[in-house]
Amino acid sequence: MPKRIAVIGGGFTGLVAAYELGKRGCQVALFERGDYLGGLASGFAIEDHPLEKAYHHLFTTDSAMLALVHELGLDFELIMCADSKALYHAGRLYPFTTPFDLLHFTPLSFFNRLRFGFVTLYLTHAPNWQRFIPIPAAAWLKKWYGAQAYAIVWEPLLKGKFHNHYTDVSMAWLWARINSRGNSKDQGRERVIYFRHGFAVVVKALTRKLKELGVDIKYQTQITAVTSSTVPTITFTDGTSESFDRIICTTPSHVFARLIETDAHASEEYLAQLNSINYLGAVLIIFSSSQSLSKYFWHNLNDPASPFLVFLQHTNLVDPAWYNGKHIYYLGAYLSHEHAFFRNSDQEVASEGFDYIKKLFPSFKKEAVRQMQVFRFPNAQHIVDTDYTKKIPDYKTPLPGIYLANFSQIFPEDRGTNFAVREGIKIAKLVCADLRPLL
Ligand SMILES: Cc1cc2nc3c(=O)[nH]c(=O)nc-3n(C[C@H](O)[C@H](O)[C@H](O)COP(=O)(O)OP(=O)(O)OC[C@H]3O[C@@H](n4cnc5c(N)ncnc54)[C@H](O)[C@@H]3O)c2cc1C
Repeated sequence: MPKRIAVIGGGFTGLVAAYELGKRGCQVALFERGDYLGGLASGFAIEDHPLEKAYHHLFTTDSAMLALVHELGLDFELIMCADSKALYHAGRLYPFTTPFDLLHFTPLSFFNRLRFGFVTLYLTHAPNWQRFIPIPAAAWLKKWYGAQAYAIVWEPLLKGKFHNHYTDVSMAWLWARINSRGNSKDQGRERVIYFRHGFAVVVKALTRKLKELGVDIKYQTQITAVTSSTVPTITFTDGTSESFDRIICTTPSHVFARLIETDAHASEEYLAQLNSINYLGAVLIIFSSSQSLSKYFWHNLNDPASPFLVFLQHTNLVDPAWYNGKHIYYLGAYLSHEHAFFRNSDQEVASEGFDYIKKLFPSFKKEAVRQMQVFRFPNAQHIVDTDYTKKIPDYKTPLPGIYLANFSQIFPEDRGTNFAVREGIKIAKLVCADLRPLL
């Protein structure tokens, strides 16, 4: 008799866990509260072409995701792209991609430009990242890059990404960011990878595979409780429930805490551990325009007066011809859940965004905007602080038969679809290993 497994959440972790369990002969049901799959990496259509709601690309080092893409027969979809970056500081955009750009980055003294290059090179190759865990990134950066580079380059980025938590972030997290970006190369050149038809092609292919494997995908099905008092059981919004041999939950940690809080096995200490991981939300304004505003793809907005952290001209990474010849832009911010952007209308958020873009690019014309969407994700980024290793929850929870797999367990790397794939495979193997004596 095949074992019945419930997977809660249809993001990449849940999709891959369901796929791996299906391949291993389990009878799987996947529950997703939304009416689409892909979670944070889900897509929509703009200018008749698929695109992610939150900007996404891969690094050449993203081996788990690239192996999955290969297994799904999607290698032909991969595009190697030359990344170009700029940094907005004191009302001006500076190119910030190559060592040559750095040498000409005049807001820093010449000595600090050289120092910036050497310290970054060191971080790109530094082994023993474990020693960075207890060190706050802000303090390390100020010490080694110097006060000037910290104030101009690093502090605005840390503040923009982590707000009032910015001084707590572990240097190990930043090391992993610099390391994966710096080592994402193709034939010696820094490159990022994108899909000809967006990350949606992977979601579609996985969905097809899940159907072939007999996985029961339940859309618009929010789980309200998970218990294990007799057997692993989930409860739905209408109060009905269903039991399984095992349950894997892929929601954020604090959401999982709410789901299990009535179960006797969920000690106060365990719930406090789950709730100790803080999350920030993300708000993205995406639009198409007949105007080309910049020659760069990625713009770091090192502007303390702005709620926005990044501006992307996506069509400097890929061909505008994919999007009816129009240009595609993202304006993105990481924000606390209390920020007005989570309450304001899309039009209000976009209006603030467009005013900011006008400041960045005075030639910007709202009349040239053709299609626009605003997306909000309440749990987009967790705070990886210097105490973080104590907070990481185990895959096996104290509730018998119930497992947790989400991006809060990824460390020191930043969350990413590559690691969601890795976690999905890992959790499926763990569940199967635990079930083996019963099979
Ligand atoms: C702005 C931004 C930029 C990013 N850039 C990149 C990038 O360039 N490259 C990259 O690889 N990654 C990137 N990521 C990260 C990547 O999107 C995530 O790491 C990955 O998608 C996480 O997948 P997941 O399945 O773990 O979580 P999620 O995608 O959050 O999936 C969890 C799922 O659970 C569902 N759910 C929650 N509660 C319930 C419930 N009670 N009942 C049923 N379902 C529920 C949710 O609806 C969701 O679908 C980015 C993320 C953001 C926000």
